[in-house]
Order: sequence, then structure tokens, then C-alpha cells
Amino acid sequence: MSKLTLDRILQSQGFGTRKWCRTLVADGDVAVDGNTVTDYRAAFDTAGLEFDVFGERWAYREHVYIALNKPSDYECSRKPSHHPGVLTLLPEQFGWRDVQPVGRLDHDTTGLLLLSDDGAFIHAQSSPKRHVPKLYLATTADAVTDELIARLLAGVQLHDEPAPLAAERCRAVGPNQLEIVLEQGKYHQVKRMLAAAGNHCAALQRTAIGRLTLDMLGLAEGEWTYLDAEQMALLV
Ligand code: URA
Repeated sequence: MSKLTLDRILQSQGFGTRKWCRTLVADGDVAVDGNTVTDYRAAFDTAGLEFDVFGERWAYREHVYIALNKPSDYECSRKPSHHPGVLTLLPEQFGWRDVQPVGRLDHDTTGLLLLSDDGAFIHAQSSPKRHVPKLYLATTADAVTDELIARLLAGVQLHDEPAPLAAERCRAVGPNQLEIVLEQGKYHQVKRMLAAAGNHCAALQRTAIGRLTLDMLGLAEGEWTYLDAEQMALLV
């Protein structure tokens, strides 16, 4: 059992500095089990704890694991330069608790993006050793041909890579659309592989990571959800 004082709990959940969290409590803006608590030193067991801040219900989470359906024109970078950052699509508490994207999607790529404040999870998920397959739906400028698919499966040489990179799987799903599965996460990899194979990527969406698909989550663009244990187990 882990008991923490209310100011620490609020700080850990991203409600601001300890000082600010104490003010929130003293001002009567925080309730636990439906009762307003005004003493920030009151201690609570964090397991299963639910609390209200400004009337909004929150569940205590040691870490958060989030899936976002990323829209176009948002940057994954921590210091976005030309477009808003993806964190602006999430409650501001997540920024305070240092939630970060797991890997990156280009600003114009849409689809499934994971975010977390669990460094070990981010590291494990992004490790090249893990070989987590990622499924992309690419819209191409020129028609998808058997030759294009064959080249992507055989491997294409990118100028800054020591060896050719190959798709794990690749198939046409429309005259100008293909599904491609990659196990690496190199910079602009799908776009560069398509260019190296003689086509051009006009639009790109990530539709699955491991066995977790965007369809399963039912998120509209810009929407996010917490991942539950069953969904987390699909991320391999
Ligand atoms: N490959 C790309 O080219 N861009 C992405 O955003 C993801 C994979």
C-alpha cells in the first residue's frame, strides 16, 4: 500500500508545482471520495484512488499510456517549430507529467501515435532490438505496381544507411495505395523507401503498432484514449 499526501498526489498527476497543488487544496478545489479536502497533508492510498479537481473526476495513475489518432499538421517534437505540438491535443496535466511521444511521426503523417510518461516503456518500445512491426497506409503519387512492391520487399538502399532496408510485408490495397509493414523506425523511412523505389508518398497514415490497430480504438482524428492492459499486451 502506497500512501501519499494530497499535494504530492496532485503534483505527481500533473496538476502543477507542489506549491500550486497546495493552493488548490486549500482553496477547496479538490475532493476525494466526494468530500472536499482542504488539508494538503491528508494522506491517501493511491491504489484505485479517484479524486475531483474543479469538479472533474480523475483516477490516480502511476504512469499514463496513451494512444492518439494524430491529425496532420501537428509535430511530435518537444519543441515544435512550424506546427503545434501533439501535446496540445491532450489535457495540460500530461505536459506537466512529462508525457512524450513514443518515436515520431512526421508533421504530415496521421494515425496511431503512442505517448507515455514511463521512460522504461518508451525506451523498450522504441528499441531497434524489439522489432515491433508498424503498419502504414501510404497513398502514392504514381500507380502501385508489382515491381514497386517487389522492390520494397527486396530492400532499397537509402543514402545514409549502411545496408538496404526492406519492408516486412507490403501489398497493394488500391491503384495508388499500399500497406507496408516496417520493423525499423528510421527517419522518414516510408517516404524515403518509396522515393528510392521510384514512386512518391503523397500521404501517410500509421494504422497499427504490433497487433494494436487504430480501428480497434475507434478514435477520430485528434482524439486520444488511455490504453488498458489488454491493449498494451497487443503492442508486441
Ligand atoms: N515513415 C515516414 O516516412 N514518416 C513517418 O511519419 C513515419 C514513417
